[in-house]
Amino acid sequence: MTTMESTSITVPRVEDLRERAKAALRTVGAELTLGVPGAGGIQASTPLTGEVLFSLTEASAEDTDAAIAEAAGAFTSWRTTPAPVRGALVARLGELLTEHKDDLAQLVTIEAGKITSEALGEVQEMIDICEFAVGLSRQLYGKTIASERPGHRLMETWHPLGVVGVITAFNFPVAVWAWNTAVALVCGDTVVWKPSELTPLTAVACQALMSRAARDVGAPVEVSRLLLGGREVGETLVDDPRVALLSATGSVRMGREVGPRVAQRFGRVLLELGGNNAAIVTPSADLDLAVRGIVFSAAGTAGQRCTTLRRLIAHRSVVDELVERIVGAYRSLPVGDPSAQGTLVGPLIHETAYRDMVGALEQAAADGGEVFGGHRHGTEGDAYYVSPAVVRMPSQTAIVHNETFAPILYVLTYDTLDEAIALNNAVPQGLSSAIFTTDIREAERFMAADGSDCGIANVNIGTSGAEIGGAFGGEKETGGGRESGSDSWKAYMRRATNTVNYSSELPLAQGVRFS
Ligand code: NAD
Repeated sequence: MTTMESTSITVPRVEDLRERAKAALRTVGAELTLGVPGAGGIQASTPLTGEVLFSLTEASAEDTDAAIAEAAGAFTSWRTTPAPVRGALVARLGELLTEHKDDLAQLVTIEAGKITSEALGEVQEMIDICEFAVGLSRQLYGKTIASERPGHRLMETWHPLGVVGVITAFNFPVAVWAWNTAVALVCGDTVVWKPSELTPLTAVACQALMSRAARDVGAPVEVSRLLLGGREVGETLVDDPRVALLSATGSVRMGREVGPRVAQRFGRVLLELGGNNAAIVTPSADLDLAVRGIVFSAAGTAGQRCTTLRRLIAHRSVVDELVERIVGAYRSLPVGDPSAQGTLVGPLIHETAYRDMVGALEQAAADGGEVFGGHRHGTEGDAYYVSPAVVRMPSQTAIVHNETFAPILYVLTYDTLDEAIALNNAVPQGLSSAIFTTDIREAERFMAADGSDCGIANVNIGTSGAEIGGAFGGEKETGGGRESGSDSWKAYMRRATNTVNYSSELPLAQGVRFS
């Protein structure tokens, strides 16, 4: 474990990680063949050492077709199963997730590199969404609307959609699947999941628990199917007309490819894409609170959250003190083995992520930015442990508008709140944002129609770490989708408007006469 100075890091032995992963898979009851590294198929790797743990069989075109067919077949009975009965399946899944919280968190740490506390938090998020979805299973309400015609009732009813294809990113390897699956299942849909090729083991473990939950409550196991594979497997889900809704989480690049393809076949799409999140710190801010919120949002998960704080927009009167305090806090941030107690910053996911970080920092420096931190710590293997970086920028150049998926915090300075809000909104992405202020006028303005243009606008907390109760998602290039709590369930159902005439007359709407 080390601080901002570049030193060597002790990483766990890959043999031990293999044993830990195997033990977790065994405990959750996962049945899979773990091939030796390099044996073909998907290479399940760990960013802790940069090595391959096992090779796994990749879904073939036939497997993909069969999985979609099974989910489509299960839909025909699942859609008419009463929603509260569907809720019983999700309740059981929540119990199993609670029982196996440590096993799943262990796999999340090994595959995604999250520190133990954040990995446990991610599994807790799965448990929370199961609880939410169980309640939802008794609350899939439609509206009754006043009809303009006498003796008529006008109402909306909500029905299941069909098969939901779920494509997920490496950095939330389990929670995003759970957000989609728990809600989709109570809505009466069935699910086919293609996880990131970087996190197949956590996916296999989730699927094992899901199948067990189905068996325990007597539901068809085919309501949830798993396909391990890369982009091609994902593309099959994208193009298959049996997939009624494609919910895809990942980069803007991926969304740009996927969105038009699903639209081409008039399928529904729910996109949760990249962010470029900012926090404004005003002169009235409680700086102690701001520094804590900023450091967690910017350096937590080694900068690999979609909601990671990437831009700090600080008032001229506080910027110097703020940067000094953040750099000071960064110096004492323990970087290292994410499963070791006390570590706060784990590794980057792979070499490409590190190269992207180096390239962005070089570009920022060439643009006149002053860089603090951002160097790599030595290990004996191919792992990429870095100190988070802070870059004071003279102005917002093109690199500031990019989402570099690494811990880089660009600092910009402002004079008026209008200017700060314009900077907040100047990027193509629109996921999360925050303001640190004790002035109610500034806080309200930030959340108003002419304030932040993001899907998330927080006051006096950072940009990351959302609760499941609210709808989650963002605007512009973030894709516009909403998942998780609130009324996000409506994306997983279709709406029918019903007009019932219980009179013996046939009045037409808008007073039209046809006799
Ligand atoms: P990625 O785009 O490389 O991959 C995401 C998933 O999409 C993977 O499962 C991948 O196999 C699949 N995929 C890629 N191209 C595809 C295609 N053409 N057709 C079908 N499937 C395809 O993203 P990543 O590196 O795994 O994750 C990091 C990115 O995800 C960041 O941009 C981050 O901001 C974003 N993200 C967004 C949210 C959100 O809720 N908005 C949440 C987590 C991550």
